[in-house]
Amino acid sequence: MSDRVAVVAVGGNSLITDKQHEDVASQVRAVEETCRHITDMIERGWNVIVTHGNGPQVGFILRRNELAAHEVHTTPLDVIGADTQGSIGYMIAQALDNEFRRRSIGRSVAAVVTQVLLDRNDPGFRNPTKGIGGFTTKEKAEEFAKEGWTVREDAGRGWRRMIASPIPLKIIERDAIKALIDAGFVVVGVGGGGIPVIEDEQGNLRGAMAVIDKDRGSALLASDLKVDLFLISTAVERVAINYNTPNQQWLDRMTLSEAKKYYAAGHFLSGSMGPKIEAIIAFLEANPKGQGLITKPETIVQALDGETGTWIVPDEGGGVIRNA
Ligand code: ADP
Ligand code: MG
Repeated sequence: MSDRVAVVAVGGNSLITDKQHEDVASQVRAVEETCRHITDMIERGWNVIVTHGNGPQVGFILRRNELAAHEVHTTPLDVIGADTQGSIGYMIAQALDNEFRRRSIGRSVAAVVTQVLLDRNDPGFRNPTKGIGGFTTKEKAEEFAKEGWTVREDAGRGWRRMIASPIPLKIIERDAIKALIDAGFVVVGVGGGGIPVIEDEQGNLRGAMAVIDKDRGSALLASDLKVDLFLISTAVERVAINYNTPNQQWLDRMTLSEAKKYYAAGHFLSGSMGPKIEAIIAFLEANPKGQGLITKPETIVQALDGETGTWIVPDEGGGVIRNA
């Protein structure tokens, strides 16, 4: 058994490739494709914890709730998070299992329902800033408000439910994930950034009305377990500075200091690449021996061979790519 452990955070494109392929069968195909590349990695000796996003899937469930509310009870966001961890975790676990069987790899997968603790006094709960679900009318928004949602009008596009996206503090199932990975399981965890929970006055865990950024939740896990590699698999092969401008420059490698400098200069869009760079910065600060990598699923193996992807490495001693 290899002792190299990677957290592989798979982005939305690993589940839904485009608007025409949102149905479950298409999601399964997209997951299978990504899992082939993750299996390539495992064949090369990596021990992997897969984390994943759930943004669109949460949107679908919210919409289903809306349409069915006259007949079936609606579900709160923590339960929706758990639902998506179950369904997406199931798809990933099954795809990996099938790929392992096909290649005669004697490994097993365990998907862990993962709660992530938030600070109940996080200012985001009083002033939620992240839009969730579709845009709607003033009348419908008033109904949502009665159910306890914060609603806000978005310049010209209609009304939207707003939600807090606090900084995750602690992964409740951390020790379980660690025990599984140490025992040689391939683990799926912290789906959707984790199920948002808070501690009440008595110290009991309760579901929270919040969402957690999946890159942040994944960074917390990667930092906590001090894994060797934090790989963010997304829709681009590499990261650029001056992205989408005539001076665009794709990066093979940046040091932690360079990443911070480019981040501060606004090279990484907030809501997409920004949180990923932030997540890798947080990971490298917590684990000075770690390495960060951003690439797309199809190029994971080439990136691990140092041929593509953007590596984010510590300032000192981060030069060697440890995959040989
Ligand atoms: P995910 O679903 O994997 O979280 P996102 O769409 O949130 O994916 O983030 C990835 C996207 O970030 C890329 O597809 C790209 O359009 C965008 N992006 C923003 N800034 C940059 C940058 N500087 N370099 C590369 N991609 C960037
Ligand atoms: Mg994203």
